[in-house]
Amino acid sequence: MPQEIRELDPTTVERIAAGEVVERPASVVKELVENSLDADASRIRVAVASGGTESIRVSDDGVGMDEDALRQAVRQHTTSKIRDIDDLEGGLATLGFRGEALHAIGAVSRTTITSRPRDERADRGAEITVEGGDAGTVQPAGCPVGTTVEVEDLFYNVPARRKYLAQDATEFAHVNSVVTAYALANPDVAVTLEHDGREVFSTTGRGNLTETVLDVYGREVAQAMIEIDDGKLPEGPLEGVSGLVSHPETNRASREYLSTYVNGRFVTADAVREAVLEAYEGQLASDRYPFAVLFVEVDPALVDVNVHPRKMDVRFANSEGVREQITAAVEDALRREGALRSRAPRG
Ligand code: ADP
Ligand code: MG
Repeated sequence: MPQEIRELDPTTVERIAAGEVVERPASVVKELVENSLDADASRIRVAVASGGTESIRVSDDGVGMDEDALRQAVRQHTTSKIRDIDDLEGGLATLGFRGEALHAIGAVSRTTITSRPRDERADRGAEITVEGGDAGTVQPAGCPVGTTVEVEDLFYNVPARRKYLAQDATEFAHVNSVVTAYALANPDVAVTLEHDGREVFSTTGRGNLTETVLDVYGREVAQAMIEIDDGKLPEGPLEGVSGLVSHPETNRASREYLSTYVNGRFVTADAVREAVLEAYEGQLASDRYPFAVLFVEVDPALVDVNVHPRKMDVRFANSEGVREQITAAVEDALRREGALRSRAPRG
C-alpha cells in the first residue's frame, strides 16, 4: 500500500518551527536580550523564576514599540532590521534579523509584551498578549519608556519539550552563562540578573571591561586578568584582537568562562576557543581552563554569521590564519605578565 502523504496543520507547523528557535529557557533569554541590545538599551534587567521554566522577564529602556509595531512584532518573519537578503552582505549592525524570535516564543508560551516608545509624547504604552500562538488585541498600558517581555509557562503546549527540560538549577546555569556573555560584551549597558527574586549579578554599565568582569566574576578573577595588546597583532585575516585573559593560575574546571566574540557577536567557534587554549598549552592541567573575554574583529566578508539561530558558531574563510593571530595575541599578553613559562618550541 502506498503511504499517504498529508499536509501538516498550521498549528503543528508553527510549533515545529518554534522548536528550531526555542530549545530551552536560555534560548528565550538570548533572543530577548539581543532584542534589547538592538533596541539601544542602556539598562537590561533579566528576572527568571525556577530556572526560567516558570517565567522569564526581560525589561529594557530601549527605543520601545508603538501599538502598530507591537502588533507586527509578534507575527512570523517580521523584522525592522533588514529589508532583504542583500542587507546581510557586508556585515550587519544588529544581532537579530530573522524576525522569528518573538513569534516563536509566543507560539510555545504565554507571553505578554509591554512597550512604550522613546519618542512618544503620550505618557503611556501598550501591551499585547500571545498565548500558544494566539495574539490578543493591543491594549493601552501604563509603563515606562522601553520594553518588557514576560514569558510564562514555556512549552506548556508542547509536553514533549517540557518533559525534557533539565532541573531548574541546570536551566538556570544556561541562562546565567547567556546573560553573563552579553553583559561582558556590553560594558556600557547595565545588566542585572535575578533568579527566584535574588540578584545574581549586576553590572554598572560604566563602560569599563575590567569593572564588568569584577561585577560578574568577582575580585579574584578581575585581578588576575591581563589585557591583550591590540597594537601588536601579527598580519593575518583579523583586523583586531582585544580583551582580557586570565593569568594561568586563575582557572576553572569548565570551558564556560571562555567568552569569545566575533564582530561583537557572542560565538562558541571552535577555531577561536582552541586558539586561546593553545596559548596556555603546558600551563594548565588538562581539565582546567582560563577565563577569557576576547573580542575578534574581522572583515564581515570573511566570516559567515548566517548559520542556525541556535548555534552560536561562525565560519571563517581562513580559520588557520585566524587561529595563529589569536594564539599570538594571547601568548603576547601572558608573556608580558611573565605568565608564560618557557617551553620547547613547537615542532
Ligand atoms: P528580529 O530581532 O530578528 O528582528 P524578533 O522576532 O526578535 O526579530 O523581533 C521582531 C521585531 O520586534 C524587531 O525587529 C524589533 O523591531 C521589535 N522588537 C523586539 N524586541 C524589541 C525590544 N526589546 N525593543 C524594541 N523593539 C523590539
Ligand atoms: Mg530578535
